[in-house]
Amino acid sequence: MRQILRQLRRGELRYHNFYEDIPVEVEGAEEPVHVKGSLSREGSQIMLRFQGRLLVRVPCDRCLKETSFLYEVEAEELLEPEEDEQFDLAEIVNEFFVVQRPSQVLCDAVCKGLCPHCGADRNVTPCDCEQAMTDPRLDKLKSLL
Ligand SMILES: [Zn+2]
Ligand SMILES: [Zn+2]
Repeated sequence: MRQILRQLRRGELRYHNFYEDIPVEVEGAEEPVHVKGSLSREGSQIMLRFQGRLLVRVPCDRCLKETSFLYEVEAEELLEPEEDEQFDLAEIVNEFFVVQRPSQVLCDAVCKGLCPHCGADRNVTPCDCEQAMTDPRLDKLKSLL
């Protein structure tokens, strides 16, 4: 890839497409991400563009059930000439995937989560904790509504 960058800078090449599998350090990523992209000359600069999707398997943030989700990253970055020598596609791809990973992962948008009192999965077993343990502060609030 560095050789290609050099050729692009010298104007011997205008465009280069690539397709690579890149291992990413995203929590729950089970496979390398399949990245499709290009390097192209834009004036005196080199533009890197790529897109890729990643399947991640992690526990649901609310009920801890194993959940998988797919997310896609599309990126564009102008490469500075001084970056050519240490150009590392894997590092750049990793950066984008780490930053753009969704911060909350739910098995379902309406996941009820675990009961904070008895730990029951409220999607499966409704428990009576909510009624049994009414917080006096909440009663006060309710009376104000
Ligand atoms: Zn859940
Ligand atoms: Zn409960």
